[in-house]
Amino acid sequence: MDFKEKIRVIQDFPQPGVRFKDVTTLLKDGRAFHAAIDTMAEQVKDKEIDLIVGPEARGFVVGTPLAYALGIGFIPVRKAGKLPAETVEAGYTLEYGKDRLAIHKDAIHPGQRVMVVDDLLATGGTIRTTLDLVRQLQGEVVGAAFVIELTYLNGRDQLKDLDDIFTLVQY
Ligand code: 5GP
Repeated sequence: MDFKEKIRVIQDFPQPGVRFKDVTTLLKDGRAFHAAIDTMAEQVKDKEIDLIVGPEARGFVVGTPLAYALGIGFIPVRKAGKLPAETVEAGYTLEYGKDRLAIHKDAIHPGQRVMVVDDLLATGGTIRTTLDLVRQLQGEVVGAAFVIELTYLNGRDQLKDLDDIFTLVQY
């Protein structure tokens, strides 16, 4: 399946100069969505993962069906102030903006094997912060998976300490 063909590129969103990769066009195509999640599940199925952790909002869209396909749990990472129970937090810089992310303190037990998942790897700031949260809870990060990688933003530089990084589509 040519996943790239299913992804729409929007020039100058959310600001001039950015070529935004719109995954909603892939998600609305049932066959493409299914194939994307199945391909990701196939890539990571032998990693003995206990949990998938994904940042809001599109990390949920990719992370939850992947967790379901693997028969394991999903843990949401959200903007600070959104999760109802006790959290730990970390700061991050986005491709365009700054924010704080949070995870429930009891979401991961020490030593659990975690894969972090998002729709897209750009500068790596979001996933780096997600990794930091998992490690604050003493989870073992076994890898990261994305539908899209913007290789020209060198997000992998933020993930040098990971053995496995899976991406379906590269720009
Ligand atoms: P990073 O933190 O790696 O710079 O940016 C990645 C985060 O920003 C991801 O959570 C992703 O959803 C969002 N993001 C940045 N650029 C794009 C884009 O072109 N398309 C989509 N769908 N998300 C983007």
